[in-house]
Amino acid sequence: MAHYDCLVIGSGQAGPALAVRLAKSGLKTAIVERYRIGGTCVNVGCIPTKALVASARVAHVVQNARAFGVHVDAPMRVDMAEVQARMDQIRSASNESVTRWLEETPGLRLIHGHARFESPHEVTVAGEVLEADRIFLNVGGRASVPETPGLAGIDYLTNSSILEVKALPEHLVILGGSYIGLEFAQMFRRFGSKVSVLELAPRLIAREDADVSSAVADILEKEGIEIHTGVTKLQFERGSYAGSPTGLRARFETAKGPLELEGSHCLVAVGRRPNTDDLALERAGVLTDARGYILVDDTLATNVPHIFALGDVNGRGAFTHTAYNDYEIVADNLLDQATRRVSDRISAYALFIDPPLARIGLSAEGARKTGRTILRARMAMERVGRARERSETDGFMEILVDAATEEILGATLLGIEADEAIHSILDLMSARASFRVLQHTVHIHPTVSELLPTLVGDLKPLDA
Ligand SMILES: Cc1cc2nc3c(=O)[nH]c(=O)nc-3n(C[C@H](O)[C@H](O)[C@H](O)COP(=O)(O)OP(=O)(O)OC[C@H]3O[C@@H](n4cnc5c(N)ncnc54)[C@H](O)[C@@H]3O)c2cc1C
Repeated sequence: MAHYDCLVIGSGQAGPALAVRLAKSGLKTAIVERYRIGGTCVNVGCIPTKALVASARVAHVVQNARAFGVHVDAPMRVDMAEVQARMDQIRSASNESVTRWLEETPGLRLIHGHARFESPHEVTVAGEVLEADRIFLNVGGRASVPETPGLAGIDYLTNSSILEVKALPEHLVILGGSYIGLEFAQMFRRFGSKVSVLELAPRLIAREDADVSSAVADILEKEGIEIHTGVTKLQFERGSYAGSPTGLRARFETAKGPLELEGSHCLVAVGRRPNTDDLALERAGVLTDARGYILVDDTLATNVPHIFALGDVNGRGAFTHTAYNDYEIVADNLLDQATRRVSDRISAYALFIDPPLARIGLSAEGARKTGRTILRARMAMERVGRARERSETDGFMEILVDAATEEILGATLLGIEADEAIHSILDLMSARASFRVLQHTVHIHPTVSELLPTLVGDLKPLDA
C-alpha cells in the first residue's frame, strides 16, 4: 500500500496550490482528480464563462457602435463555433498549465481517478489503496437540479453542457435568476438568442438588497431579456420549438396569472450541490450538514482532525478566490505555524453581467440587522464622468459606514469597472481604516474610482 504524508482529493482552486506547496516543503504528497485538472473554474466555470462574456460584450459594442459615430455597414453575425473555439483555447491553456505544474513538481504524484474513503487514513483510487497521514478534500460541487415536474423529461442543459452547444439557441429558457443564470442570460441575449428567465423567488439575486435586484432587472430587461419572478406551479414538457430536439414548453403562474412559453433550450441554473455523496465520507467519520457540505472549524479542519475540507465543499465560500484563500489558510497554518482563520475573510464577490455588480461586506439590509448606527452614501453612475464618456451610465455606488468607529462595513458598486474599483474599498476594510482615509485620498481622473472619495464625503444616516 502506497503511503503519503499528504493526500489531496480534487484539483479545484485550492488543491493544486496546496499539493505543490506541501511537496515543495518536503512532504511526500499525492493529488487525485477524477475529471479535468483545474476543476470547475478552469473547465466549466469562471474561465469559460468570462471568455464568453467577453465575446458577448464585443457583439454588444458592435451593435451599439452607431451611437458612438462608428458605422458597421454589414449586418453583425455571431459564429458560435468560433466563439466556442476561442473559449476552448483559453480554458485549455489554463487546464494544460495547471496539469504541467502538477506533473512537473518534484515529490508530487498526480493520480487520475475517483477517490473514495476506505477508512480515516485510507482512500481507494482506481483499485489502488493510498494511505495518508493528512487528507485534504477539495472536491467542489456540481449543478443542482430541482425536482420540478417534467424537468427530467426534457433535454435540459447545465453550466457544463451549455458550453458544448454548437448552434445558437433560438429561445433559451433559464431556470434560476441568480449569478450563473444571469451571466448566461445576458451573454446569449447579446449573441442573438431570445432569453427568458424564470425565478421562483419574488426577485432576482434575492440575497441582495431589493434596490440592487431591481436595478439589475432593469439593465437586463433593457436588453430584451424576459424576466418572470415569483414563479409558482412550474412544470415542463417536451415541445417542438421550430423542430428543435431540445424544444420544451414551460407552464407556470406569477402575480400576472397563468403563463406559458415555448423554448428551444432550457438551462438549469438554480444553484450548486457539494460532491460529497460519492466519497464514502462515513467510512472516515467526516460529518456534513443536511445539504452535504462538510462541517469545518475556523481553520478548515473537519471533525476528524487530520482531514481538512477546502473550497466550495465546506460551504464557507462559493468562489475561486475563497477556495484559494482556504488553501492559504491551511498551508500557512500547517507549514508556517500561522494562525489564519476563515472568519477573518471579508465577503467579496461579483456578478459579471455588463455592467458588473461588485459586492463586499454587509448589504444595507444586513447592516440594519447589526443594530449599529449606520451611515450610507449613494451616487448614481450618471454622476461619474468616465461612465458618461462611455455612454454607460447604468447603476449606482453605495457605501456603508459604522458611525461610531468610522469603519467601512460594506459596499455595492453596480456600474462600469465596478469589479475593479471596489478593491480600493475592500483594502481599506481589511485595514479597518476610517472612511476618512478614502475621503482624503486623491484618485486619478477620469476613472470610476475617482468618485469614491466624493462618495464617502456624502454619508447620511441609513434610514434618513
Ligand atoms: C458557471 C460558473 C461560473 C462561475 N464564475 C465564477 C466567477 O466568475 N468567479 C468566482 O470566483 N467563482 C465563480 N464560480 C465558482 C467557482 O468556479 C468555484 O467556486 C471554484 O471552482 C472553487 O471550487 P473548488 O476549488 O471548491 O472545487 P472545483 O473547482 O469544483 O473542483 C473540484 C474538483 O474535484 C474533483 N472531484 C470531485 N470529487 C472527486 C473525487 N471523489 N475524486 C477525485 N476528484 C474529485 C472534481 O472533478 C473537480 O475537478 C463559477 C462557477 C460556475 C459553475
